Amino acid sequence: MERHTNSGVAVRSAAGVAVEEPAELLRVEKLRKTYRSGEQEITPLDEVDLNVERGEMIAIVGPSGTGKSTLLHLLGALDTPTSGDVYFAGNSLWSQTEEARAEYRNRAVGFVWQRHHLLSDFTAAENVAMPLLVQGQGRQAALEAAERWLAETGLRGRGPQHANQLSGGEQQRVAIARALISQPVLLLADEPTGDLDERNAEGVFELMRRLHESHHLTTVLATHNQSLARRADRVFHLEHGRLARLAAREPGEARVSALAGTAANTFRERG
Ligand code: ADP
Ligand code: MG
Repeated sequence: MERHTNSGVAVRSAAGVAVEEPAELLRVEKLRKTYRSGEQEITPLDEVDLNVERGEMIAIVGPSGTGKSTLLHLLGALDTPTSGDVYFAGNSLWSQTEEARAEYRNRAVGFVWQRHHLLSDFTAAENVAMPLLVQGQGRQAALEAAERWLAETGLRGRGPQHANQLSGGEQQRVAIARALISQPVLLLADEPTGDLDERNAEGVFELMRRLHESHHLTTVLATHNQSLARRADRVFHLEHGRLARLAAREPGEARVSALAGTAANTFRERG
């Protein structure tokens, strides 16, 4: 018997029996992304493999321009890989229809960016409610749900304020509420604290960690901030097209595993 998760992706289970979902949520296989600009070819992802289990928080660290955003975009089906694939709950994203990928993006995944991309002419509550309004839900119900999410992110009662009247940290909380209101299972966060000062970065990270746990999310987070990254379950360093696991949760002791050193000359001139 096939049942459908809220992402619309079919998960097989034995007829009539509730079966544990498999531990693996995401599987990245030989994922490659090459950009061409003029004579130059850049390969920020060179046959990257990664498995992410349900409930894990993964941090991706690495210098600017190494492909962290590229990886998150591919995990969220916002961009097309040059080769390789991403499997969500066992289903290939890239052998599905565009319609199925849109469903995945809209239902299964929540996105948080470095810049919050809030609509400044709208209130905090309207911004949070937007995904539900776009899905065609009634305005009243959507705004009530938005108020609940704002309360969860520490912004109880702030719904009527315009987004541009909020501080940077508050705006990022609104963006997190907006990302979660459609109850995704996977949260992709691209340098969500990158524009914040240390105190706000800490607050926003703590919030994400708490929501990750209370809502049983699976989170993949790109960050420059090594001390926040070490609080993820696993940390990977991305450079020269390769992901290398770092020892996690050992403050001051994170180090590149034996996987490092495989870095190929992925930045090369053509011809
Ligand atoms: P990061 O998020 O780690 O800073 P990105 O994923 O944004 O890195 O970029 C990785 C590399 O790919 C960079 O060299 C960047 O210039 C290049 N790149 C990203 N997007 C494009 C694009 N649309 N066209 C050409 N090159 C791109
Ligand atoms: Mg980036």
